[in-house]
Amino acid sequence: MANQKFQPVSGFDLPRFAGVPSFMRLPHVEASDVLYKEVDIGLVGVPWDGGTTNRPGARHGPRQLRDLSTMIRAVHPVSHIKPFELVNCADLGDVSPNPADLMASLNRVSDYYTRLKQDNIMPLTAGGDHLISLPILRGLAKDGPVGMVHFDAHTDLFNEYFGGTKYTHGTPFRRAIEEGLLDPKRVVQIGIRGTMYDGEDIEFGRANGVTILMIEDLMERGVDDIMAQARKIVGDQPTYCSFDIDFIDPAFAPGTGTPEIGGPDTYTAQQVVRQLRGLNLIGADLVEVSPPFDSSGNTAWVGVSIMFELLCVLAEAKAGSHTS
Ligand code: MN
Ligand code: MN
Repeated sequence: MANQKFQPVSGFDLPRFAGVPSFMRLPHVEASDVLYKEVDIGLVGVPWDGGTTNRPGARHGPRQLRDLSTMIRAVHPVSHIKPFELVNCADLGDVSPNPADLMASLNRVSDYYTRLKQDNIMPLTAGGDHLISLPILRGLAKDGPVGMVHFDAHTDLFNEYFGGTKYTHGTPFRRAIEEGLLDPKRVVQIGIRGTMYDGEDIEFGRANGVTILMIEDLMERGVDDIMAQARKIVGDQPTYCSFDIDFIDPAFAPGTGTPEIGGPDTYTAQQVVRQLRGLNLIGADLVEVSPPFDSSGNTAWVGVSIMFELLCVLAEAKAGSHTS
């Protein structure tokens, strides 16, 4: 089904350390290019960390994720999904933020994703800090509130920081619920842990119908049980997936601003994403990889490996080739 022009460069043809790095070695297609109108899934970088409240650096995420993504091959080892054969995938480049102006950056991102939705392109985004999910949802949820499966050590449901600041990477989903972008009854958060401020985020979420599953739920009940619950909560209606790299234990993914110990390993992270198969997915993001804190580069490798898992379930949803 996919156009041959959208095939990634194979490691059989050009060594994977060679060439100009694009996401997963896909063609780089700008909106002005003739191929743009044929794109089904766009891999997009949002190199912006203006919502970060603690250790910064996620603005450097997309570039390093692109570099490490050249290690990705074309076929999923378990499901045998071939995303690049199912649909036309391309690297659409980066959304240009304004690093000196938070509100302008949010508007630039929401304008970009509004256009992607108009052009019927499903986005797989590499962040950036987690505040970018808010303007992404502003673009994607134009037809009404959507559901969300959210993997994270944190709820990101706080109200405000520093005496009145409403827009940080700790607040995107509070704002998204208030703005009617997310249906809280169709939102499930998985992996929550770490020392707390006051618990007001969890109280707000549960009072509004968000299902908040702590790391103990995942570890004690196991992947199959947790993901069966998650699939039931979001149902068959449009659903977004947001994956904060700090969901994974910092032993495996230390390069992030707000690490929390006691998290799942990379194998478990792969298993949970695979169980998104068959959902009515409208897009996904992988956020909070901070290369300055990633001295080995392994966090970016973990990140792009999760992006490939996400791409496989998105490609099936876009192609309409799998129903649960
Ligand atoms: Mn987060
Ligand atoms: Mn987090």
